[in-house]
Amino acid sequence: MPQIVVCKSCGHTIYQGVELKSAEEVIQMVGGQCPKCGRRLAFSIEDVEIRSS
Ligand SMILES: [Zn+2]
Repeated sequence: MPQIVVCKSCGHTIYQGVELKSAEEVIQMVGGQCPKCGRRLAFSIEDVEIRSS
């Protein structure tokens, strides 16, 4: 059951993996912005969407 974290702005999958990560960790991994649309992500769960599938 992988965890998927997507950018709320463009829907790009920022992180996908079996290891559960917090929104803050994932945002730090990509340097604080979405690699696709360049949107600055606050260190907040409000800028990303976390799904499990
Ligand atoms: Zn984006």
